[in-house]
Amino acid sequence: MTEQTTTQSANPKTKFIFITGGVVSSLGKGLASASLAALLQARGFKVRLRKLDPYLNVDPGTMNPCQHGEVYVTDDGTEADLDLGHYERFTGIPATKNDSVTSGKIYQRVLDKERHGDYLGATIQVIPHVTGEIKNFILSGLNDEDFVLCEIGGTVGDIEGQPYLETIRQLAYELGRERTMFVHLTLLPYIPTAGELKTKPTQHSVKQLQEYGIQPDILLCRSQIAIPQNEKRKIAQFCNVREERVIAALDARSIYHVPSAYSAEGLDTEVCKYFGLAAPAADLSPWRHIEEVVENPEGEVRIAVVGKYQLKEAYKSIDEALTHGGIANRYKVKVKWIDAEDVEKDGAAQYLSDVGGILVPGGFGQRGTKGKIAAVRYARENNIPFLGICFGMQMAVIETMRNVAGIKNAGSSELDADCEAVVGLMTEWDRNGAREIRNRDGDLGGTMRLGAYPCVLAKNSKAAEIYGAGEISERHRHRYEVNIKYESLLCKAGMLITGKSPDGKLPEIVERPEHPWFVGVQFHPELKSRPFAPHPLFVAFVKAAIDNSRLL
Ligand code: GLN
Repeated sequence: MTEQTTTQSANPKTKFIFITGGVVSSLGKGLASASLAALLQARGFKVRLRKLDPYLNVDPGTMNPCQHGEVYVTDDGTEADLDLGHYERFTGIPATKNDSVTSGKIYQRVLDKERHGDYLGATIQVIPHVTGEIKNFILSGLNDEDFVLCEIGGTVGDIEGQPYLETIRQLAYELGRERTMFVHLTLLPYIPTAGELKTKPTQHSVKQLQEYGIQPDILLCRSQIAIPQNEKRKIAQFCNVREERVIAALDARSIYHVPSAYSAEGLDTEVCKYFGLAAPAADLSPWRHIEEVVENPEGEVRIAVVGKYQLKEAYKSIDEALTHGGIANRYKVKVKWIDAEDVEKDGAAQYLSDVGGILVPGGFGQRGTKGKIAAVRYARENNIPFLGICFGMQMAVIETMRNVAGIKNAGSSELDADCEAVVGLMTEWDRNGAREIRNRDGDLGGTMRLGAYPCVLAKNSKAAEIYGAGEISERHRHRYEVNIKYESLLCKAGMLITGKSPDGKLPEIVERPEHPWFVGVQFHPELKSRPFAPHPLFVAFVKAAIDNSRLL
């Protein structure tokens, strides 16, 4: 049974900010939440961010990334919405299973309790049982945070979102308005023919929130152009929000400009005023430094990402990590998104002859694999810096086995039951001394090797040099593993296994010493890259790509 937390047991100093969205989806609520948290952090407050997703999946792990973007993974192995990535990148605070929930998970908890008899014969209802479980999620697992920011997924008016709005309304009542704040993110569409920003959709959205008993305290209005004061006044009057709390959220030059832009509009000042907190102004110098580098790069490097999901959001963390690697080298990384199936059709040279580096990211299933393997081969044969991540590393190993070691039917049992399974299903492995066991026919949801695992690096390897360490911890999300029994064959074919699980059974990193820069990793380094702490592998990969471009 999950621990039950009540409003009384919540730390009295902790304040709760609830962020909802209106008018349309994709307004960047995750970034807005992360930016507000970063601003409060820059004023010296301790913050925590949480995401509540109203959809019915238990977690996004089984969702196609083309629909909802990448699945983010935390250290503790939670498969979460990609907004948790924004949270971690903007605040540097690692998220946990306590920071992401969906309606599926909430209902699962309620139904488990019902089956267990915990409700003592009561009729189970959305209010109070589902709302009670949502409340429990919001209030649990906290320490001495000054602010807990809870982002509610979806858009006001979504049928799945109603229990969440009801819950935060109740919480504001129970905790008191002096400890709770509602921030609503809306859109002011610009009509070019009239030369006007339209406030009506925002008015409607706020009316709808008010129907649920929620009066927003701050309106963050996304807009293409500056919002004239008289429009702010109008919104303030219609929506019952103070004029100075109608805040313009203008399209920014980059996501790194968002915190300081919001601050300039008075967002963090208004939050502090609302709660009656005297705090020093936000120290934005680290953000300013990043803005400065992003604005004035010393050059530009093209890096190909050969994947198969059309949606850029499906590779969000990779895109970000490449940018961070660029910032560390004072270079702009221009990502060339390449569909692996196009490489399959037209050949690798067609797409890859003008890039400084090639990255093959994670993936699942057969489609596009031929193109990914062709991309690895092109990188290997033409000495182009290569980074293979998870599926990308598996493809790199298969490529070497087929084209260098000459084992033509080398493959992965994920893709072909009759191949020589150089990459196979691992049915058991160690986690913190305990055995984790899987079987082929088990559930797909939540059953991969997930979250942080240690990895021991070989001395004198490129990996050890890049990390500057002997042992590292990285996040995983996969079901298949390179079979260690092929180590000596791989070695003869020029590929070394330079990172392994501490028991030596699971290959974690491969590299080609004869190649200028060729690294494959079974884990997802992109998940741990931060603008203020770029991941060493990405820094080194981008540097190698820059050096290679100079030769082009
Ligand atoms: N499909 C592969 C596996 O399950 C790789 C997964 C991934 O790239 N995240 O092992």
